[in-house]
Amino acid sequence: MSTNSINRRNFLKISATAGTGLAVSLPALAADATPSAAPRIPVRPLGKTGLSLPILSMGVMRADNPNLLKAAFDAGVRHFDTANGYQNGQNETMLGNFFKDIPRDSFVIGTKVSLGRDLTSSSLISSFLSGFETSLKRLQMDYVDIFYVHGAPAAVASHPEVLTALTNLKKAGKIKWIGISTHSQEPAVINAMLDAKAWDVVLTSFNYKQTYLADLIPALERAHREGLGIVAMKATAGGEYLDRERTKPNNVKACLKWVWEHPFIHTAIPGFLNFEQLKSCVDAATHLEMDATEKQFLNPVASLVPNEMFCQQCGKCIEQCPRHLPIPDMMRAYMYTYGYRLPSMGQETLAALNVPANACSGCESCTVQCTTGFNVAYKMQDISRLSNIPREFLA
Ligand code: SF4
Ligand code: SF4
Repeated sequence: MSTNSINRRNFLKISATAGTGLAVSLPALAADATPSAAPRIPVRPLGKTGLSLPILSMGVMRADNPNLLKAAFDAGVRHFDTANGYQNGQNETMLGNFFKDIPRDSFVIGTKVSLGRDLTSSSLISSFLSGFETSLKRLQMDYVDIFYVHGAPAAVASHPEVLTALTNLKKAGKIKWIGISTHSQEPAVINAMLDAKAWDVVLTSFNYKQTYLADLIPALERAHREGLGIVAMKATAGGEYLDRERTKPNNVKACLKWVWEHPFIHTAIPGFLNFEQLKSCVDAATHLEMDATEKQFLNPVASLVPNEMFCQQCGKCIEQCPRHLPIPDMMRAYMYTYGYRLPSMGQETLAALNVPANACSGCESCTVQCTTGFNVAYKMQDISRLSNIPREFLA
């Protein structure tokens, strides 16, 4: 029996009401679609969206192999997360080509468009909407399920023009649910979203390395209580390796299991890149109990593996730098480049920051004391070199 035939036969239609009041019919995506012989990926409701999703979703960001999408779909993954900017749009195009012959109600697509840094820009909404239409075309779909404002600060949660634009897209049937993706100041962003009472889903960083879990967990618990769908990203706190030289492998299963131990996390979007990594993620999702090695890896005292990749995005370095360089974003570029092994994405991140190549050039001694203990000057110098490499060598 083909996967498609399994999907078509087994979809159980349920009724749900989206935030706009539109009645929509959704399939119970997940366990019924998992091949019957395989262990089933558990499913959790995505807040008040009416949708239930397998706890394992796919962060497609780095993937460029449609066969990996197929393998994930066959394994029971139903939610695929991308963004307008990933791989210069090719990521969305790949998803569009893959899903064009698959029943539209058998998968969930999340995509994102950034508003840019200047929230007062006169072209803020027009360029945002133009980005959305481009995404829709690339995806070859009439609508996206979850549309996020990409990497937005807390102020966006109650931004009237942004909310109007998103509400209009919902009314036009081009979006089912609206969200914000956040990888810095997450507690503030989440609380602002809840206060605005306008949002359906948050895509947030969440991992065992975050030093501000004491603030983040209560915000997520509140979000869970109040019906916001919660999708976790950066669950592995750095990618496959925890050091630049790739001598210290990460324990991805341990990281994911830690995330799923929290019932307020509805699904996570690890960015698996090959079949072996997919298998490992599925194995973690279907065997949630941690073994002794995994527990040891997560134990901050017993673990001998320092993480050189994950920047807390606390922003405390910016004021210390006389040039006010966007160090947290540059550390993110560092993680994409060395932790995720995706220099093209590191370069894209640097380009969006609009900082000169060799931004630290001429600065005689670094005044930055990183709260995580990173050697900021070294990492800044190292990652800045990416800006000088022609794009075609990295694509
Ligand atoms: S102080 Fe360190 S951890 Fe905090 S944002 Fe800067 S580089 Fe990241
Ligand atoms: S070396 Fe340090 S203080 Fe100097 S510009 Fe770079 S980040 Fe800023």
